[in-house]
Amino acid sequence: RVPVLELDDVSVVYDSVSGPVQAVSDVNLKVYQNEVVGLIGESGSGKSTMANAIMRLMKNNARLTKGTIRVNGRDVYSMSKKELRTFRWSEMAMVFQSAMTALNPVMTIEKQIVDTFRSHRPSMSYKEARERAVDLLRLVRIDQKYLSSYPHELSGGMRQRIVIAIAIALEPSLVIMDEPTTALDVVVQRSILNQIQELQKQRGFAILFISHDFSLVAEFAQRVAIMYAGRVVENTDAKTLQLGQEHHPYTEGLLRAIPRLTHEEVEIQGIPGHPPDLLHLPKGCAYHPRCPFASEACKQVRPALHQLAHALVECHLYDEVKGGNMAWPSRQT
Ligand code: ATP
Ligand code: SF4
Ligand code: MG
Repeated sequence: RVPVLELDDVSVVYDSVSGPVQAVSDVNLKVYQNEVVGLIGESGSGKSTMANAIMRLMKNNARLTKGTIRVNGRDVYSMSKKELRTFRWSEMAMVFQSAMTALNPVMTIEKQIVDTFRSHRPSMSYKEARERAVDLLRLVRIDQKYLSSYPHELSGGMRQRIVIAIAIALEPSLVIMDEPTTALDVVVQRSILNQIQELQKQRGFAILFISHDFSLVAEFAQRVAIMYAGRVVENTDAKTLQLGQEHHPYTEGLLRAIPRLTHEEVEIQGIPGHPPDLLHLPKGCAYHPRCPFASEACKQVRPALHQLAHALVECHLYDEVKGGNMAWPSRQT
């Protein structure tokens, strides 16, 4: 089975006046057809950088310093500019983090959708493209009367539905969604997520779903990659994303930060400290300054990846597990 998306040891650096910013480090990730993989992490952990790298739409000062990115088995960085132009949007598409502003304010919705079709399918007539635009709007449950509207005449939720419709217009096998609902209120957010799920069932594309809303991702995705300081420190089955299961200490910290009802009170425990400066990453495990389980080894040696029952975890705690001691170190609850 060829993965729709395959990242093999990918690193991305931004060149800055202060030096190289190590935004993505040694990332390995696979996404298969019909699958939703969530990507979560705090602000600045490298999620958008990774998404832009996959689309080969990186900022001018960004460089892929290591690794390969394949979409449908094709190396995205070995394509010619011309090949890439056809490949992008028709095989891989993205809903950008700033999607609320992604639509052209002076163009009707009809024109924007029709242009998307015609730029990739030059032989398509205007009439046919318009028919497809109507189908697309139906797909995201927007009345066709809005085809003649301008973006500012629509609600935020409708605009976001249209951006999603445009992303899937050319039936890509991979759709990257970078915080697609963050700017929307909870009710609209929920209804858009349901629609994405429905669309995905119908069309079978793979989704890389980026968010910093942990509970949302755990519910929406089948697998979740957790990013910290540019590294995927855990890759886990979404069903096992709960306290009491074996996780990376950072994942556990995030789980504890979700508001929970305990003893009839909402209890929230944030993770103390803040993410490291990507210009000066700490030695060893980048999480060690914040980790309650950090040992001497954690400060010196970068942890290896350990395969647990439902997760791949990059952490020294599991070195012992490998050695036969299965006990998770005791911790306060
Ligand atoms: P958010 O949740 O806030 O969207 P993110 O996980 O998407 O965060 P990125 O936008 O990928 O994070 O940024 C990763 C790191 O790269 C951050 O530390 C950021 O400051 C840095 N960075 C982003 N763009 C540039 C740039 N053009 N030049 C230098 N550094 C950059
Ligand atoms: Fe904590 Fe060490 Fe694991 Fe890093 S390697 S998460 S510092 S226990
Ligand atoms: Mg981002």
